[in-house]
Amino acid sequence: MPLPIDRAEGKRLFKKYRSQRNGIRNCPEMASVCLICESIDVTAKPDADGMLYCRNCGFAFYRYSCPICGKTVDGRDPENPGCNSCGLRICSCGACGCPQPDKETQV
Ligand SMILES: [Zn+2]
Ligand SMILES: [Zn+2]
Ligand SMILES: [Zn+2]
Repeated sequence: MPLPIDRAEGKRLFKKYRSQRNGIRNCPEMASVCLICESIDVTAKPDADGMLYCRNCGFAFYRYSCPICGKTVDGRDPENPGCNSCGLRICSCGACGCPQPDKETQV
């Protein structure tokens, strides 16, 4: 669940990441800030796994922990581009929703 933050902090983070989106995934507070309308009314999307959405403007985005390495994946971060095959986001470790190659059996 997103961390509760106050409006001033939301404003500051919005300004910072609106122009420079790289690093959003590493900022835990950005789970609570909508990058579209600056609202901090962001919550888990009930009908979609791994997604959060803004209750103010309705914008939804991926934000979840990578099942492989545990790092945060955020769909708004340019370092987490969308995967053409599964539609999920690609973690900085290279994992997405596609079946991962088994390292044991890989030659
Ligand atoms: Zn919004
Ligand atoms: Zn990962
Ligand atoms: Zn994929």
